[in-house]
Amino acid sequence: MGDHGARPDKGSPGAGTAHRAYLSPVTEPEEKHPVVALLGTGIMGLAMGRNIARAGLPLRAWNRTTAKAEPLGQDGATVAATAAEAVEGAGIVVTMLFDADSVAEAIAQAAPGLAAGTVWLQTSTVGVEGNDRLAALAAEHDLVYVDAPVLGTKAPAEQGTLTVLASGPEAARATVTPVLDAIGAKTLWVGEAGAGTRLKLVANGWVQTVTVGVAQALRTAEAFGLDPALFLEAVKGGAVDAPYVQLKGAAMLSGSFEPSFALSGALKDAELIEDGARAAGADPGIVTVVREAFRQAQEDGHGDKDMSAVYLTS
Ligand code: NAP
Repeated sequence: MGDHGARPDKGSPGAGTAHRAYLSPVTEPEEKHPVVALLGTGIMGLAMGRNIARAGLPLRAWNRTTAKAEPLGQDGATVAATAAEAVEGAGIVVTMLFDADSVAEAIAQAAPGLAAGTVWLQTSTVGVEGNDRLAALAAEHDLVYVDAPVLGTKAPAEQGTLTVLASGPEAARATVTPVLDAIGAKTLWVGEAGAGTRLKLVANGWVQTVTVGVAQALRTAEAFGLDPALFLEAVKGGAVDAPYVQLKGAAMLSGSFEPSFALSGALKDAELIEDGARAAGADPGIVTVVREAFRQAQEDGHGDKDMSAVYLTS
C-alpha cells in the first residue's frame, strides 16, 4: 500500500519545475515523459487536467463538449477535437466521465488511436458491474487497466489533494505515479483492479449518509421550532463533527447549491452502492433510504444542483 505525501508547492504555477526534478534527472527533457490523454473535463476532469499540466506532464485533453476542455490550453495542454486524436501515441489514458456507459462510449470513440500496451487510468465512479465491463473493454483493446476512483470533491480536485483509491497491476504503478501525484495528496494501492472501485463505493456510502443525515437533522430542528443553525453550533468541534458537516450544513442553510458534486451524480452513486452491496450478498440498509432521498430530490428538479440540495426535499 503506497502512500504518497503532498508536495508543498502543489497546484502553484511553479509546481512543474519541482515535479520534473522529482520525476527524473534534470537532464531528461519533459517531452520524454509519455503523453497523458485525458478524456472528460467536467468538474473533476478539468481540475485534474490542470494539475497534470501544471506538474509539467505533456497533456492532451478531450471532452464531448469541447468548450469545457479549452481552458486547459492556458496551462499548456493540447485540446483535441476527437477522443481518437487525444489518445494517439499517448502512454497513459485517463478517463473522468459521468458513468460506465459514458466511459465505454469515449473509449469506443478513442479506439482508432489506441495502441496495445497503453495504460488506462480509469478514475470515474462506475460501480462494480461497470468496472468489470470496463476491465473487459481494456482487455479487448490490449490496454493495461488501472481502476483508480478518487475521494474528494471540486476543491480538493482543484488543489491536487484528492485521495486516489488505486488498484491494478504492479507493473503499471511506476507509469501512473506521476499522474497520481499530480492529482492527489495520497494514493492508496488497494489490490487488484476492482478493489479501488469497491472501496470508493464504501466511502461514498458514508459521505452520502452524512449529507442526508445533516439535511435530516436540520429539518428535525426546524420541525421542533429551533433555529437549525443551532444544530451545527452544537456539534461544532466535538467528536461527532466533521468539516463536511459544517460545509454542507452551511450550504443547505444559505441555499448555496452551486455543484461541487451534482445531485444527479450522487443518485447514480447511491444506485451503484445499493446494487454492489446486493450483488455481494449484503443488505444495503441505510443506503436505500439515502438513494430514495436523492431520487426524490432529482424528481423535484434538483439534479443539476449540488447534492446538498437533498435538503430541499428532506
Ligand atoms: P460532471 O462535471 O458532470 O462531468 C461529467 C463528464 O462526463 C463531462 O465531461 C461530460 O461531458 C461527460 N459525459 C457525460 N456523458 C457522456 C457521454 N455519453 N459521452 C461522453 N462524455 C460524457 O461530473 P464530475 O463531477 O466531474 O464527475 C465525473 C466523475 O467523477 C463521476 O463518475 C463522478 O461520480 C466522479 N466523482 C465526482 C466527484 C465530485 O465531487 N464532483 C468526486 C469524486 C468522484 P460534457 O461536458 O460534454 O457533458
